[in-house]
Amino acid sequence: MWAVGAGIVVVAAAAWIVYRTGSLPHLFGGSGGRLNVLLITVDTTRADHLGCYGRPAAETPNMDRLAQEGALFRRCSTSAVMTLPSHCTIMTGLYPFVHGVRRNGVDQLPAAATTLAEVFKTAGFATAAAVASYVVDPRFGLAQGFDAYHGVPKPRAGSVSATDAERKGDVVCNDALELLRERARQRFFLWVHFYDPHYPYESPRHPDVQSAAAYADEVAFMDVQIGRLLDGLRKLGLERNTLVLLVGDHGEGLDEHLEYQHGYFTYETCEQVPLLVRCPGVVPAGRQIDAVVRTVDVAPTILELAGQPPLRETSGVSLMPLLTGRATDLQLRAYVETPEAYALFRLSTIRALTADRWKYIWSASSQLFDLASDPGELRDAVAEHPDVAAALHEQLRTLLQEAPPRIPADKAAALTSDETARLESLGYAGMVADDPDAPDASGLDTFEPQGRDPHAFAEVIRVYEHARDAIGRGRFAQAASELRSVLVALPDAPAVLRDLAHTLRQQGKLDEASRTYERALAVMPSDSRTRADYAFMLMDNQQWEQAIAQADRALRLNPNDFSAHLILGVAYSKLERLDEARVHLEVATRLEPQTTRALYALGTVYFQQERFAQAAACFRKVLALEPGSKPARAALQAAEYELSR
Ligand SMILES: [Zn+2]
Repeated sequence: MWAVGAGIVVVAAAAWIVYRTGSLPHLFGGSGGRLNVLLITVDTTRADHLGCYGRPAAETPNMDRLAQEGALFRRCSTSAVMTLPSHCTIMTGLYPFVHGVRRNGVDQLPAAATTLAEVFKTAGFATAAAVASYVVDPRFGLAQGFDAYHGVPKPRAGSVSATDAERKGDVVCNDALELLRERARQRFFLWVHFYDPHYPYESPRHPDVQSAAAYADEVAFMDVQIGRLLDGLRKLGLERNTLVLLVGDHGEGLDEHLEYQHGYFTYETCEQVPLLVRCPGVVPAGRQIDAVVRTVDVAPTILELAGQPPLRETSGVSLMPLLTGRATDLQLRAYVETPEAYALFRLSTIRALTADRWKYIWSASSQLFDLASDPGELRDAVAEHPDVAAALHEQLRTLLQEAPPRIPADKAAALTSDETARLESLGYAGMVADDPDAPDASGLDTFEPQGRDPHAFAEVIRVYEHARDAIGRGRFAQAASELRSVLVALPDAPAVLRDLAHTLRQQGKLDEASRTYERALAVMPSDSRTRADYAFMLMDNQQWEQAIAQADRALRLNPNDFSAHLILGVAYSKLERLDEARVHLEVATRLEPQTTRALYALGTVYFQQERFAQAAACFRKVLALEPGSKPARAALQAAEYELSR
């Protein structure tokens, strides 16, 4: 499955020649310059919502022009319908089951993975990124290889949709232009990530943040920023010698197939993404390619175009033969997966394989769609074409069986050896860094599906999406009622129980919240985040002993759990167990140096232990982050008074 027939030999040979000569434009009689690389990723952008993909009403003149000046791939599949896993695939040329990143906010790209940025940095390029969402924060591993990585500050603790924090496209564009100007005299690899079309859709023309019209406006706004970015490239005189590749990470349901946003299903609405490649002198203008290609092919393609050696390990192939017209089809099969239904509801994972006109979807049931006659995937053709379904089922199994081994996840290294020793002295000996559920947590490590078919629960999942949205807007009564209705259909859905507990807590219904947290933890006892949320509630309710018991268990699951350290520090200090409090708060403030609550609590413990200089330093840090904090100012004065005595 990794080889795609004779084509791959040609591709490999071309890659080798390029590597040896080091200059691809020279090979193809092009500009002869040494190419820079500008990679633009457009989040949540449905291919069929751009003008160049045939939507006449779309206001996307800049992306349309980019397509006219280069090549447009009509059928590009993503391999994951979530932002972080998909971007990891774009950056590594590996499928998610190889790079190991399956879920936003949970997994991180291992340091052992080789990214485009690392390859370019090694080759002497200046490498920089301007990204728009906390989902791709450096802590999730995508910053490896970048000299500069400009992203989004961490959202406030306790925010239920913490990964949704974003920067607007105009801000990202300004940032990217600055990065470009600073690097205009060097050979560069610049990644620019736009997030505007991601929910909620904000448009002055269409105030309904759920409407398709507002979504279209977000796409149009992003297009304007892409136009500004490409203009900036031209004004710096870099247009002729810069490869521009624009690709999406996944699409958006927009209510088709009962899916509202993205992540739960693998329909074309979310699988198909735009892929545009402009490379003056190499890629003929106006080329349109109908063959199946994949986001996993992006990295090999960029490297070949930029005259770099191919990746040692890749799930993809270079699309160069299609770009230059040497081939019209590479007979590629496109794989896509989503573990969300398993992770959130303990329903089956979904995987799909597309080959030519056929798309086979495998979860607890099989579905087959003939995309040539049924592009909307409305008529299941398994009964009509059982032979096709069976063949694709076996190809899917083979693809996964013959995959290279998954790159091992990084061991939790956030704790220093000194911290580990001190925690061990407090009785935390032999802590496991990994969630014991982890190998199974995505439900993607076994080919045979576990749990019922998510497609049969599309209506219920839709209600859950609405409830999450209501939580985000502070509509807790509505959210609680919707979550309860989801639990009628899915009584053991861990994420629904956790979200209901969180919602009840926000409503001040603490007893009911406690019972719901207990139910959630009975379903997933090793979920350190839920346990830490529960412990937070107990702490806020001044139930110190109970908070310690829960945070203690959370910490044994994940020794790097900032919240658990904070809770233990605060609770122990309330119980006057100051030495234990200090150890946990010192770890907490090192894990998250920007969180004022931990800094303030540590300052207070230092003060009580008459370590006034250290106390004053903590309070100064709080004031630097929150200049208006009256308690910190008063505490600093008290510490300085003690120091002056
Ligand atoms: Zn995304």
